[in-house]
Amino acid sequence: MSTLEIRDLKVSIDTDQGVKPILKGVDLTINEGEIHAVMGPNGSGKSTLAYTIAGHPRYNVDGGSILLDGREVLEMSVDERAKAGLFLAMQYPVEIPGVTVANFLRTAKTALDGEAPAIRSWVKDLRTHMSDLKMDPSFAERNVNEGFSGGEKKRHEIMQLELLKPKFAVLDETDSGLDVDALKIVSEGVNRAKANTGLGLLMITHYTRILRYIKPDFVHVFVDGHVAEQGGPELADRLEDEGYDRYVTAAAEAA
Ligand code: ADP
Ligand code: MG
Ligand code: MG
Repeated sequence: MSTLEIRDLKVSIDTDQGVKPILKGVDLTINEGEIHAVMGPNGSGKSTLAYTIAGHPRYNVDGGSILLDGREVLEMSVDERAKAGLFLAMQYPVEIPGVTVANFLRTAKTALDGEAPAIRSWVKDLRTHMSDLKMDPSFAERNVNEGFSGGEKKRHEIMQLELLKPKFAVLDETDSGLDVDALKIVSEGVNRAKANTGLGLLMITHYTRILRYIKPDFVHVFVDGHVAEQGGPELADRLEDEGYDRYVTAAAEAA
């Protein structure tokens, strides 16, 4: 069984005002097939956690480790992380001028597997996933992220999840800017990936809305750069009723 283990992770960034610590000792373990929701107020460091797992150069790792089946992810290049089975959907995905969705996905798949997928089954897979995600076939011929609506970006992310079959994915605010119909379609895609490929998921979200469609196995309340509380799905219900106020107050008192 695959495991992604984040241990005592400490991360800072360089700002004009000097070095700013953001992650202050994050502990979190995800097993294959588990969905973990990371929830917390704005500015608590959720996206920093996502970028650090992805290997974004802006973030300085000051301590701790991220182990994927015992291998140190922090020592891997971004490419190596993807090859090892990590997938990170960026909160604001970049445009790739002149590269179509179909080419992008095929290139990514080829890079990951070390060989090009057989063309017939690949085309069939692509069509199936697009149809599952209620996407028009013409979408495959559009340039990546060029003029994509919020919903199209999210569907494209989920299409990558289903086609590239990573072991673990980090989705940052996948619910932001989606209407209820799009949210349902995207959530079904995530649930399929979990069921079909045993995907382990770290789902970062500020709001509880998406958790009605993607049932988390574990919920982590993230405040001031660390996990302030962990629980089961019932913790999300409590957050929906009570918000983050008492965690924020407790963190401020502890500081
Ligand atoms: P969240 O995703 O929980 O809203 P972030 O990880 O985006 O939190 O941000 C955590 C803290 O780090 C915030 O105070 C934010 O202002 C700061 N921060 C994050 N990235 C940068 C950056 N590139 N430059 C300056 N400050 C940043
Ligand atoms: Mg933010
Ligand atoms: Mg964020």
